[in-house]
Amino acid sequence: EIGRAGDELGVNLFVVGGFVRDLLLCRKSDDIDVVVEGDGIDFARRFILKKGGRCNTHREFCTAVMVLPNGFKIDVASARMEYYTAPAALPTVEMSSIQRDLFRRDFTINTLAVGLNKKNFGTLIDFFGAQRDLKDKTIRTLHNLSFVEDPTRVFRAIKFANRFDFTIGKLTLSLIRNAVKFDFFRKLSGRRLFSELKQILEEENPIPAIESLRNYHLEKVIHPDLIMDDSIIETLGAAQKAVSWHDLLYLNTPCMNWSIYFMVILKKCPYQVVKEICSHLRLSPSQTKLILRDRLKAEERLYILERRFPPTNSGLYALLNIFKPEHLLYIMACTRIDRVRKAVSFYYTRLKDIKPTIQGRDLIALNLKPGRTFQAILQSVLDAKLDGKLKNKKEEIAFVQK
Ligand code: ATP
Repeated sequence: EIGRAGDELGVNLFVVGGFVRDLLLCRKSDDIDVVVEGDGIDFARRFILKKGGRCNTHREFCTAVMVLPNGFKIDVASARMEYYTAPAALPTVEMSSIQRDLFRRDFTINTLAVGLNKKNFGTLIDFFGAQRDLKDKTIRTLHNLSFVEDPTRVFRAIKFANRFDFTIGKLTLSLIRNAVKFDFFRKLSGRRLFSELKQILEEENPIPAIESLRNYHLEKVIHPDLIMDDSIIETLGAAQKAVSWHDLLYLNTPCMNWSIYFMVILKKCPYQVVKEICSHLRLSPSQTKLILRDRLKAEERLYILERRFPPTNSGLYALLNIFKPEHLLYIMACTRIDRVRKAVSFYYTRLKDIKPTIQGRDLIALNLKPGRTFQAILQSVLDAKLDGKLKNKKEEIAFVQK
């Protein structure tokens, strides 16, 4: 239908990038990116006017996001000759708008397009050897100045290589080493760096990618004092196990997995360095609190758990109940003591959600006066329940009366 609308409006349309790449790799893709040879915003507006739905536009980038009545989202970009300010490595040969658009992309594997107009519907367009590189399982930049133009691509190369189990091409690899050697990252904003880093840490298994970051000395781009030694890599492995365990059992519990890996990476850094990193990467106040203050609290509690293991469930609960899943998983990753790891998972699966059955109104019915003592009473009921001393409401009431 989009293609038909393109024909009616007299513009060429293509579905491009990650969606086509993932299609060829038989992988699921969430985003659809469409490029219009012409004014993408104008196209999106007219399409939505006709078909219904919503359209958000970004004039500055000449892009639009169409949300169709069924909730389906399509990103629309404009490929127009006049939009192209000469990029550093634009070849002198004539290119069509779509070819120029694709030439500005990061890696060959992201340069595939499929025609949507009637004349070329379903035709795969491959200007830069993307199919060859997908077949060879190789990440390659389109030209030698790619990382000069945009050093975040170094992180993207590592992300894609890890995600698809591809290798980085020989020339691209030497361009990465060059980018590190000549510090192309100097002008890279902390915000963009964090965005790429977070995407790596959100991958299903980010550890090989983190190892690549270390191999290319990219941790120094995050902070010159950041050190990722073998013990950090080992702890990351334990973090991955904890995260998979949690994902499997608690699929619907929100948990920022990236933050667990990030906390492990920063584990050995002095407080001041972590503070500088959070500020440089423009972490939000709540993200900073999670990484800085709450992490230290988790380490403090882990210290206690490893030295004075609580003899009761209520003791374990008291140590851990202040934490969100992220910090519980962080503790599980950091400890080398099996008993402690098991205790945290026991707390998570068996104790965390226990509550007293009786409530304030039951205490009032027992002629008790509301006030601070209520809290203390309910806490002691909870403790007794955690320790398996109370099986039902009747026993809880008897416990309070006693
Ligand atoms: P993902 O599955 O991680 O979303 P994607 O390929 O869809 O992967 P996006 O980050 O959504 O990646 O980017 C969409 C497209 O925009 C990519 O296919 C890529 O061609 C292009 N792109 C993104 N970032 C850059 C960049 N820094 N330099 C050049 N092209 C980029």
